[in-house]
Amino acid sequence: MFNPLKALSSSKRILGPHGGVNTPIYPSSTFTTNSPSQMEALFNGEAENPGFLYGRHFHPNAVQYGTRLAAMEAVEMAYPTASGMAAISVTINQLTSPGDHIVSSSNIYGGSFALFKDLYADRLVNVDFIPPNRPDMLLEKINDKTKVVYLEMFANPTLQVAHLQEISKICKERDIKVVVDNTFTPMIITPSLHGADITVYSCTKYLNGSSDIVAGAICADSEFINSIMDLNSGKLMLNGACATPTVAWQLDMKLNDLHLRMNAHSKRALILASEVEKLGKFQVFYPGLISHADHNEALKYINIGYGFSGILAIDLETKANSEKFVISLIEKGLAHNAVSLGYFDTLVSVSSSSTSSEVDPETLKANKISDGLVRISVGYTGYFDDQLSGILESLKSI
Ligand SMILES: *Cc1c(COP(=O)(O)O)cnc(C)c1O
Repeated sequence: MFNPLKALSSSKRILGPHGGVNTPIYPSSTFTTNSPSQMEALFNGEAENPGFLYGRHFHPNAVQYGTRLAAMEAVEMAYPTASGMAAISVTINQLTSPGDHIVSSSNIYGGSFALFKDLYADRLVNVDFIPPNRPDMLLEKINDKTKVVYLEMFANPTLQVAHLQEISKICKERDIKVVVDNTFTPMIITPSLHGADITVYSCTKYLNGSSDIVAGAICADSEFINSIMDLNSGKLMLNGACATPTVAWQLDMKLNDLHLRMNAHSKRALILASEVEKLGKFQVFYPGLISHADHNEALKYINIGYGFSGILAIDLETKANSEKFVISLIEKGLAHNAVSLGYFDTLVSVSSSSTSSEVDPETLKANKISDGLVRISVGYTGYFDDQLSGILESLKSI
């Protein structure tokens, strides 16, 4: 059984000068060489000891973070980007050309959905959407132009679980790349071990965990990471999508307690989901519950010790109910009404009018996202017993 914490620990942190316990931030946008010929070799990718060139290319803090994240993800290389959307755009741009075809899960982050639907319609990359748990439908959609299958491991907000093992088997036979957004489940799931070729993250969420930076990451084999950094054709390098030294350093610090944070989020979310289900009033979506349609599929993927993540959704059926519920949580100080997730405090949002508002009504319905669906990103701060009873009281009064 793969242990992401053990894997992460095997990648040593570089300590600072003067006996400092932390890596320094290297705030240089340009790097020196000893001679023009050495620089020429660097530009041609022929240097014997590759050094650093320029801040939009490889730089020391990004390399350190990427090296440790790659160890945790069981891949050869990883690299941080300016945002989660930058990670997704760079990856898709690198893998496709006009005329190509993508099959995407229909149940994905609203921004990714909008990117695929609009941007790629304009740029003549054809996209088909299928539910992430229907490999049979994938077989109907793929054709000889299909280059990418795109999935979210636990899909926002009803937590459908991507049937990655079956889907990646279909793709491997046809040389189609499988790209997986693992934003909801770092450490909990290691997509590369189940057939993902490339794992992308919005580090803005759990990987950072304190809602104070926007960043992303791409995890893959060295060939792919080197291709996106190529000076002449790399989509990360040429689109300027890199993370800055300070951001890469901040993210690196946050890897150290990620296992504790994921465990704490998951523990509270499972208790809350179980208790809301016991009320018998509203449908709850949480993959850790036996009642979740994809619970058994989730069990195939999760690494032991980190639970099923901190996101759950409650279907309050009507917009008026969701409004009432969220306002009562705000008034009791039990949650912030904010988008995003993976923050240390609890965040709630009504999906259909916020993070899934880019999604068309038909797809919303197919994904069981009603006007009353409230997504909760369960935090780990504060006294949980009081928070739990407060949330349950609010639900009972609806
Ligand atoms: C937030 C999010 C993104 C986009 O990431 P940004 O860091 O906001 O650019 C992509 N995928 C998922 C699942 C997300 O939650």
